[in-house]
Amino acid sequence: MEGCIFCEKNGREIIAENKLAKAFYDQFPVNKGHTLVVPKRHMEQYFDATLEEQQSITRLVYEVKDILQEKFQPDGYNIGVNVGQAAGQTVFHLHIHVIPRYRGDVEDPRGGIRKIKKSMVPYRLEGE
Ligand code: 5GP
Ligand code: ZN
Repeated sequence: MEGCIFCEKNGREIIAENKLAKAFYDQFPVNKGHTLVVPKRHMEQYFDATLEEQQSITRLVYEVKDILQEKFQPDGYNIGVNVGQAAGQTVFHLHIHVIPRYRGDVEDPRGGIRKIKKSMVPYRLEGE
């Protein structure tokens, strides 16, 4: 789509791609290696993708993981999608965040993506 920043990603910016999906680094990374995996076809949301597109996206997430593992040796990952403005989506071309995590990158990592709504979703381990 004209004017869509993710439709326009191509050439050297692309770190991996397949028939229906492409991947590039996030311009404002949460952590070293933060990558976005997007369908080549413009669509707003996760649920707009066909199953074939979902398959290409998923395959690329695996490939990106191998690339990031080799390049940055993270200790874990957060993989997530913001679907809709209410969920925090700011760029309206579907993208999967692949965020490498490193031991000690936050003081207490427990809960991971659950922390998007921290105050409403207390996270306690049994026995605490
Ligand atoms: P959202 O909040 O929509 O789930 O995520 C949008 C992501 O796109 C953010 O992580 C943001 O840093 C990233 N981003 C915004 N503009 C650009 C850009 O022009 N290029 C790249 N590579 N990433 C961008
Ligand atoms: Zn687009």
